[in-house]
Amino acid sequence: MNSGMQIGVAFRRVAEHFRGRLLRQNDPDYAAAAPVWNGMFDSRPGLIARCCDAKDVQVAIGFASATGMTTAIRCGGHSLAGFSTCTGGLVIDLSGMSDVQVDGGARKAGFGGGCLLGKVDAKTQKFGLAFPAGVVSHTGAGGLILGGGTGWLSRLYGLSCDNVQAFTLVLADGSALRADKNAHADLFWALRGGGGNFGVVTEFEVRLHPVSSVLFGKGLCPVDAVPPLLQHWREFMPSAPDNLRWGFSLKIAGDSEEVPQELRRKPVASISALWVGNAASGSRFVDNALTAKEHSAVTIGEIPFLKLQTMADSDFPHGRRYYAKSGYFKTLEDQVIQILVAALRGIPSMSSEIELSYLGGAAGRIDAADTAFGDRSMPFILNILSHWTNASEDAANIMWTRRLFGNLRPWMKPGVYVNFMSGDEKERIPEAYSERWERLREIKTKYDPQNLFRLNQNIPPYVHR
Ligand code: FAD
Repeated sequence: MNSGMQIGVAFRRVAEHFRGRLLRQNDPDYAAAAPVWNGMFDSRPGLIARCCDAKDVQVAIGFASATGMTTAIRCGGHSLAGFSTCTGGLVIDLSGMSDVQVDGGARKAGFGGGCLLGKVDAKTQKFGLAFPAGVVSHTGAGGLILGGGTGWLSRLYGLSCDNVQAFTLVLADGSALRADKNAHADLFWALRGGGGNFGVVTEFEVRLHPVSSVLFGKGLCPVDAVPPLLQHWREFMPSAPDNLRWGFSLKIAGDSEEVPQELRRKPVASISALWVGNAASGSRFVDNALTAKEHSAVTIGEIPFLKLQTMADSDFPHGRRYYAKSGYFKTLEDQVIQILVAALRGIPSMSSEIELSYLGGAAGRIDAADTAFGDRSMPFILNILSHWTNASEDAANIMWTRRLFGNLRPWMKPGVYVNFMSGDEKERIPEAYSERWERLREIKTKYDPQNLFRLNQNIPPYVHR
C-alpha cells in the first residue's frame, strides 16, 4: 500500500478523469451505496467508484494499480462470500453499466457488466426470448455468468457461460479487449467459469432462446415422505427429458394460508417441477413429479417466464445473514438421504434450506475441457443455504451448516460450483477446477500477474517464472 500522500495524488488524478460517481465515506450517498446483499459483510470501503462506462473502469483500475489498494469488483453485490466489498479499499461498482441491447432476429443480446438478471429478462422477453441464467432476479449477471450460471433453463439450453459469445473487458494493466472463440481464445475459455479473476467485464454478448411461458408445478411433501420421494427422483432424473427441471428445497414450511394447517412450521420438501416447451407434452412429467408420492398444496399451470424468474425474489432479501456450503454427488445414496432428512428435522432457522437440483441435460453434455467451469459429470448438486436475522444466531446456523456438510462430505464427489461457496473454503478452489487448475493459473499469470483481481475464489498467478 502506498502512503496517504500518494493516495491523495492518485485520487485527484482519478477525480479529473472519472465521469461516474466517486463516493467516499463522508458522501451523503455513501451509506446507501456501501452495503452488499449478504448482511454478514458490513464492510466500509474507502472509496466506491461507480463507473458509467468502460473508460471509467480503466481509470478506476489505474487508481487501484497506482495505490495498491485492495480492490473489489461489484455487479449485483450477491457474492455469498462477500467478495464485492472490502474494508478501507476500493470498490469498482458497475451498477451504472446496465444497458441491454437485444437483436431479436439474430437471437442475441449485449448487456453491461453491471446488469441484474431482472433487467436482462425484462428486455429479452419483449422479443419472446430468454437468456439462461439464475432463479432470483435481483442477482447480478456479472458474477453469476463468470462463475458458470445455473437456473431453470440450464438443462435445456446450458449454463449461462455456455451461452456467452464474447466478453469485452478491462485487464489489470488498464487495456481493453474483446475475447471470443477466435480472439484471445485462452481468456474466452477462462472467463466461462473462472470467475472475476481475469479482468472487469464491461459487456457480455450472449445467445438467446425462444421462451415466453412455461408449465410450472409446485407442492409440499411432509418430512416422513421425503425419503421415498428423493429415491424416486434419483431414479427418474437420469433419463428425464432436458425440458424437465425438477428440484427440491428441504426447509421449514411457512404459515401462510396456502400451506395446509398440518404442515405449517413443520419440516417439508418444497417441490418445483418445470417444463420448458410444449405444455401438452410436458404435463405428464410435471404431474408425475407432483403426484408420485404424498404431496399437498399442489398447483400446476402455465405461467409467464417473467413470473417464473421473479417468484423466488422475496425469499432471499437483502441484508439478512447468509452462509452456504455446496457439493456434487454422482447419485444420492440412501445414507445421504437419511443424513439430509435428519438435518432437516434439526434445522435451526425458519428460512434456511437445503437445495437439491439435477443438472445433466445440455449443460451436462458440454465437454469438461471446453470451458473453465467445474465438473459437469456429477449431476446432483447440493446447496446448503442458511439464513437468519440476528448476529447472535450466527454460531448456531454456521455450526448446523458445517456439521451437515461434514456429514455429507464422504459421500460427495470432488468438485464444487464456485458461485455457491462461502469465503472460508480457500482449499477447495483447486478442487472446483480440478484438471483445469494449472491452465487457469497460466492464464491468470498472463493477464493478471500481480493478482490485482484477488477478491474472488482466487486463482493465484505463478510468481517470477
Ligand atoms: P457480486 O457480489 O457483484 O460479484 C461477485 C464477484 O463476481 C466479484 O467479486 C467479482 O469477482 C465478480 N464479478 C462480478 N461482476 C463482474 C464483472 N462485470 N467483471 C468481472 N468480475 C465480476 N447462482 C447460480 O448459478 N444460479 C442461481 O440461480 C443463483 N441464485 C442466486 C440467488 C441469490 C439470492 C444469490 C445471493 C446468489 C445466487 N447465485 C446463483 C450465486 C451467484 O451466482 C453468485 O452469488 C454471484 O457471484 C452473484 O453475482 P453478482 O454479480 O450479484 O455478485
